[in-house]
Amino acid sequence: MKLSIVVPLFNEEDSLRDLTKAIDIAIAPRKHEYEIVFVDDGSTDHSPDICKELHGQYPQKIKMYRFSRNYGKSAALSLGIEKASGDTIITMDADLQDDPSAIPSMLEKLNEGYDVVSGWKKRRKDPITKTFPSLLYNGLTRLVSGVKIHDFNCGFKAYRAPVAKTLEIYGERHRYLPVLAHWDGYRVAEVVVPHHPRKYGKSKFGISRATGMFDLLTLLFLRKYMRKPLHFFGLLGLILFLAGSTVLGYFGIQWLITGEMHVRPLVLLSVGAIIMGIQFVSIGLIGEMITHSVPKHRYSVRESIE
Ligand code: UDP
Ligand code: MG
Repeated sequence: MKLSIVVPLFNEEDSLRDLTKAIDIAIAPRKHEYEIVFVDDGSTDHSPDICKELHGQYPQKIKMYRFSRNYGKSAALSLGIEKASGDTIITMDADLQDDPSAIPSMLEKLNEGYDVVSGWKKRRKDPITKTFPSLLYNGLTRLVSGVKIHDFNCGFKAYRAPVAKTLEIYGERHRYLPVLAHWDGYRVAEVVVPHHPRKYGKSKFGISRATGMFDLLTLLFLRKYMRKPLHFFGLLGLILFLAGSTVLGYFGIQWLITGEMHVRPLVLLSVGAIIMGIQFVSIGLIGEMITHSVPKHRYSVRESIE
């Protein structure tokens, strides 16, 4: 078995040497072949130099890819997973909050037949300003996604490599990877991992932590309607259009019979509903044009016999 440890990093110069050492201490005794894939997400400190220095020390074991600017953690994870050559991929944060000593227990869980093992920072060493929003976010995600784990956004995870490589990680989707895997039919489990306070530097996520909730809405929508937007917008549009036309039709017939027409609020409302209905259907059609012009959706294949 070959392990790839993928580490996204953004201005973590003080942690990288200790992290590399800790990973080696955790894995070397178990005789696994391994590589560390550092993805420098546009650091402005000496992180890239330190990665190069570490590569000089362990040329076989350390790879580094450096973005030209800060693209975000999802982008860094995505590239790292793409470049990983192991058959098992571990992702972890660079800031020493995740403890590599948990890697063996994650591998054991994978061997029980799971495709993704997510870390659970049960005793989390973070300030309340982080843990409280996390509680809400995890509760909501658990409810909506149907994945029964506690800690969706833990950066510390283990994957069977082919599974990790099918995940489409962009935007802020790194917060929902267990959801994406579960929805694709993969088996997701959780193990408790130790957690440490941040030793050097500071957290890279501010208010984006809260707005990350919107991504859940996007995911839910995309999951169902990505390839058939007209089914969503068209239905809404049709309901509005029919409701508006029925009411307006009623007033129209009344006008034909009695010759009287009063502009009542209900008439205005119906006209509004008809216009909105047409607009929703048009939005759905534009959605269809967009979705049919992007490359074909990738389906994740669990097994193939050829
Ligand atoms: N990170 C990154 N790009 C970013 C922000 C963060 O690669 O734009 C990395 C960061 O260096 C760390 C990991 O993602 O290795 C988690 O970030 P952080 O520790 O700041 O998150 P927190 O622990 O506060 O949730
Ligand atoms: Mg951290």
